[in-house]
Amino acid sequence: MKYPKALENLIKELASLPSVGPKTAERYAFYLLRQNEDSLNRFAKSLAELKGNILVCSQCLAISETNPCPICADLKRQREALCIVENIQDLIAIESTGQYQGLYFVLGGLISMIDKVGPESINIKRLENRINKGGIKEMILALNFNLEGETTAIYLNKLFKDNVRITHLAKGLSAGSDLEYADQVTLKNAFKYRNEIK
Ligand SMILES: [Zn+2]
Repeated sequence: MKYPKALENLIKELASLPSVGPKTAERYAFYLLRQNEDSLNRFAKSLAELKGNILVCSQCLAISETNPCPICADLKRQREALCIVENIQDLIAIESTGQYQGLYFVLGGLISMIDKVGPESINIKRLENRINKGGIKEMILALNFNLEGETTAIYLNKLFKDNVRITHLAKGLSAGSDLEYADQVTLKNAFKYRNEIK
């Protein structure tokens, strides 16, 4: 006896999500099966529209509903500071502290020897173009305090230290921690007391 095909397919799709194993996928699938048609349609609609209504900002490479995104388009922001983040989740975490008024740039990953992610696999070339255009005086590295974050910070520091002032977040955040999960006060202070890379 096997599950009906539609259910099998759903389990397979769910199991492809990060940190969802086959058992969890099965549980999710049965949960969805118990929902009414309306809520399932809403769920399906948000999935179907996910790609179509999301753009990538050509300036900071963050996902957005507009290009340029509202932050890059905002002329009131400090346009001489560029905060480098791994992803949009980190950008939003920093933005929600209200501590930072400059611009952002999304790397789209971190350099990792273990996972064989080199500088060419993330948006470093685009970052070089951005810096070469001029106007940026300070680059703030807001990267995770783990091996990948440190490796990337060292690489960026080497690459750009002759062009701009480079700072990174103060170590109020615990080692190995993900920025997006840091609490607001910690993140706010890490920003406020950011310092030069030695
Ligand atoms: Zn943008």
